[in-house]
Amino acid sequence: MPRTKSAGTKPLPANKQKGKKICSCCSKEKKLTDFYLSYSPMYSLDKRVPVCKDCCKSSILNTDGTINYDKLKELLRSIDKPLYIDLIMSSEQSVAKENSYLEDEEIQYHGKEILQKYFTLIAMRQDRAKSYSDSEREGFLHKNNNRNSDEKNKILNKYGFLIKNVDKSKIEQYAPDSQLSETVRWSKKDKQNMKYAISIIGYDPFEDVGLSESDRKYCFNILAGYCDTDGIAEDGHKIQGVIEMSMLYCQCKKITEAMNIELSNDDVDDKKVQKLSSSKSTLLSSIATIAKDNNIASNYNKNSKQGQSSLSSKMKEMADNGFQEIQVNLFDIKTSEAFKQIDKISNENIANQLTLDNSEYSEIVKEQRETLKVQEQKIDELTEENRNLKNKIIDLENRKR
Ligand SMILES: [Zn+2]
Repeated sequence: MPRTKSAGTKPLPANKQKGKKICSCCSKEKKLTDFYLSYSPMYSLDKRVPVCKDCCKSSILNTDGTINYDKLKELLRSIDKPLYIDLIMSSEQSVAKENSYLEDEEIQYHGKEILQKYFTLIAMRQDRAKSYSDSEREGFLHKNNNRNSDEKNKILNKYGFLIKNVDKSKIEQYAPDSQLSETVRWSKKDKQNMKYAISIIGYDPFEDVGLSESDRKYCFNILAGYCDTDGIAEDGHKIQGVIEMSMLYCQCKKITEAMNIELSNDDVDDKKVQKLSSSKSTLLSSIATIAKDNNIASNYNKNSKQGQSSLSSKMKEMADNGFQEIQVNLFDIKTSEAFKQIDKISNENIANQLTLDNSEYSEIVKEQRETLKVQEQKIDELTEENRNLKNKIIDLENRKR
């Protein structure tokens, strides 16, 4: 396609520009290349923003290294560069990727690196000609990006506060239910379990099955517990079985939560509880069936080595696999994830064996509630008695004087 040549004012390629200019922020004279390129008509003279690159980054950092988002917004507006919260997320993710040893919570203290990435991203072809108001018109989010709705919601959860005054209709496409739930935190242990499970299974089995982030985390933790089943890596049926079981357990958890909420009400809807508990037993028996059919649960597994899931053999196995924490944290039962995991596995085995009957579960919980009430009443009575006795003692002591 023929192109009309611009009238001679075309700047040299960005890295070849010569000359200096003074930063309007730190007042230092710097090379032109120390300033970000700008396509804004406001800076058409040298096509550079008036604030130097260093100042762009350092002036908007808090003393702890986190980004001051109000200042970032202000800066972008004043140098007429676009604000896209999806790119802030990308920048953060890329910093996290490069520093994989960091915990999720620690990434934010690497604000300068995140900003560095951000300014690089907005200088790419797609956005380099965009102004602040261009991005504003788009709702500060790219309309066309490759993110799925889960990721889009994650972005809104995290950076939605930056765009809270934006017309809702512009961002509706990102949050179909406009349910901005809390961000799910993955602890180091959760991540370890996920990586372990994926390394055994060979792919991420919970990626496109419509799970929420917290359910995904839960499923991985369950799945990791099953991943040391004998011969699992060589048996496709076993793999599918444990994946299915993990998701069923996740559904069970939700039903249990719903039941507990219902049972904590003052007037319990018995029908609802019945329904929930019957769905739960259906799920649990499906789990038991899958386990049985695929030789997964140890109590059905004739080939299982005796004591394979016992504490000492688990510990030895983990130590062999290089789990440092098991060595230093041997007796810290309350915090040791290994113990929790073993506990969970054995609870699961109990659940596999029990498969509580329809109303049994609600009966148990009801009974517990009754017991709790009785005990609470006793405590009240005893507290009152104690108070009276104390008063009597004081009276007696006063009389002695
Ligand atoms: Zn400066």
